[in-house]
Amino acid sequence: MAYIQFLGAAGTVTGSKHLINTSADSSGANGFQALIDCGMFQGPKEWRERNWQDTPVPAHEIDAVILTHAHLDHCGWIPRLVKEGFRGPIYATPPTIDLCGIILPDSGHLQEEDANFYNKHKKSKHTPALPLYTFAEAQGSLQYFRAVQFDQETQVCPQISFRFVRAAHILGSSMVELVLQTNGQNRRLLFTGDIGRVRNQNIAPGKVVHSGPTEGETADVLVMESTYGDRKHPTDDPRPALAALIRQTVERGGSVIVPAFAVERTQKFLFMLKELMESGQMRRVPVYCDSPMAIKAVEIFMKHTEEYSDETRRLVTQYGSPLQWPGFTFACTPEESKKINDSKFPSIIVSSSGMVTGGRIQHHLAQRLPDPKNTVLFIGFQAQGTRGFTIKSGAPEVKIFGDVVPIRAQVAAFEQFSDHADTPELLQWLHTFSRQPGVTYLVHGDPAASAQLHDTMIKELGWNVQVAQWMEKVEVR
Ligand SMILES: [Zn+2]
Repeated sequence: MAYIQFLGAAGTVTGSKHLINTSADSSGANGFQALIDCGMFQGPKEWRERNWQDTPVPAHEIDAVILTHAHLDHCGWIPRLVKEGFRGPIYATPPTIDLCGIILPDSGHLQEEDANFYNKHKKSKHTPALPLYTFAEAQGSLQYFRAVQFDQETQVCPQISFRFVRAAHILGSSMVELVLQTNGQNRRLLFTGDIGRVRNQNIAPGKVVHSGPTEGETADVLVMESTYGDRKHPTDDPRPALAALIRQTVERGGSVIVPAFAVERTQKFLFMLKELMESGQMRRVPVYCDSPMAIKAVEIFMKHTEEYSDETRRLVTQYGSPLQWPGFTFACTPEESKKINDSKFPSIIVSSSGMVTGGRIQHHLAQRLPDPKNTVLFIGFQAQGTRGFTIKSGAPEVKIFGDVVPIRAQVAAFEQFSDHADTPELLQWLHTFSRQPGVTYLVHGDPAASAQLHDTMIKELGWNVQVAQWMEKVEVR
């Protein structure tokens, strides 16, 4: 019997990794094995430590990876998989491949940097601290990517074919519609990856890519994300409050520090700042984008115009590339980054990582959190156990690079910039299904969110829904 095993994003929002084994025998041997996503665990140590564990089947026995999108919690373990012996094809859409080409090497580079830092300051219990994979190893893993266009039927092995359909989450993001032949029957499996916002610009402003996931789906087995399974996004326009917050911070001589995912969120936020300044709704303040990856991602965004929402197309036509805007400075080198740190004038600093789990944002926060003049502005989801979660939840201090940093800066958050559908939007999408799935497994959610979406789906839709458990194997009947 074929089975799915949840190797990640079960009981948590990171480490997405679902193994399909087509095997007809219970040992799992001799089956074709494909991974849907190969993400890195982030956040709490108990989860991060699983990045160092081997896959339950040897990596060299995994035959293929099908990748939904280029966020690290979905693709960040690929170089490690290759390091462990995987040599198969990694199927992804062309924009996802372009984005992985910068995200994975950057991830390797950051891990090397962090390991070096800890070794230099002897702040790790492990001597020496090691990177999960290096820049070079991440570069090496890129040779296994194979481009698959949206809606293109791809035969992976005699028992598995799939196509990518739009998820409307980030540039290039897709769901995987998969047909699995088992026991002489064809079974449709749908893996949602991360699901984007609905088709409504007013409640999801600034969306860079198409809004609205592909509708009219169906599946025998649905494997669905549940990040916002217990939450509703605010439906008011965040722009006036954002302009006011920036004005207040600048008036008291402070800077606004924005931890933002380098891909999609940063681009979206920069476009919004530009629009607010140009329309006179916000004063002109120097904007620093301190993320080499975000800068490279802008170039990739400019290339994939086929992915744009109408709003993005309008903004690009009107203002051109963000890399050419006066008053906006993009920092590539560590020296340029340091210059921002030395600047005493009010500014807006957008840097990554989005959940403050690594990257240059750590330096900006270590320097500016102790000063009450500054504001830290969160525009993205903060997973439990991350530094971002600690700061956002009102803690008096946070540990950065092993040092305790007092939090005296103002802390603010806007939820409207999310690229994930909230519960009403998820239900709205599920209502478009042409028939109800045989079974739905909820993944990619903190336990409370998954549990609540489970209850809501049973109550509102009457579907057969289960919350996936980490390492659980479920048969595909
Ligand atoms: Zn994502």
